Amino acid sequence: MTVRFSKIISLMQSTLRKNNLVRPTALKNLQTQEDGDPYKILIGTILSARTRDETTTQVIKMLFSEFKNPDELSRADLKDIKKLIQKIGFYNVKATRIKEVSKILVEKYNSKVPSNLEDLLTFPGVGRKTANCVLVYGFRKPAIPVDIHVHRISNRIGIVNTKKPEETEIDLQKTIDMRYWIGVNETFVTFGQNICLPIKPKCNLCHLTKICKYYGKNN
Ligand code: SF4
Repeated sequence: MTVRFSKIISLMQSTLRKNNLVRPTALKNLQTQEDGDPYKILIGTILSARTRDETTTQVIKMLFSEFKNPDELSRADLKDIKKLIQKIGFYNVKATRIKEVSKILVEKYNSKVPSNLEDLLTFPGVGRKTANCVLVYGFRKPAIPVDIHVHRISNRIGIVNTKKPEETEIDLQKTIDMRYWIGVNETFVTFGQNICLPIKPKCNLCHLTKICKYYGKNN
């Protein structure tokens, strides 16, 4: 990939602006509304997996209006948690997860979310994507959370050539200057939700056609 990454980001942003699609993700909304509270970002990220952003935002609001911190959520009745988050995909498993995670935070971390990847990865149900989201949206630390959008778009454009999200994260870290890491997830996810869709990407609206490997192959 010879095109500078700043150029790619700039073309994505201009595409979104031109098409009136500059919309914050659920995690960006949560970061703004909750002043980047790492605990709420952690729980919000666990809940957001395989769920539409609008639903995630709505459910997170209801959950935190009832249980405000790790202590309250760790002591909550599982049935009450399930009831509050039932609109979310896999809500049974996620209810158990967020209660467990809250309990560990209270017992082991004095209710403070750790700000390093290694500790975050020890929590049940917390993989690299979730941990990196907490670093980016909760602690404003440079990290690249790679979800399906980041993985798909990076490969389509040709920034990386990988099979698994974990490989994409490693290759993106090698390719992208660290000062850009913190914004990758937000831009790529918005772009993936609105332009570079999983099926039938809207290439006719996209400003990256001249540099996109996928577009070059298919047109
Ligand atoms: Fe843009 Fe299409 Fe390439 Fe996606 S696949 S980045 S929509 S040109």
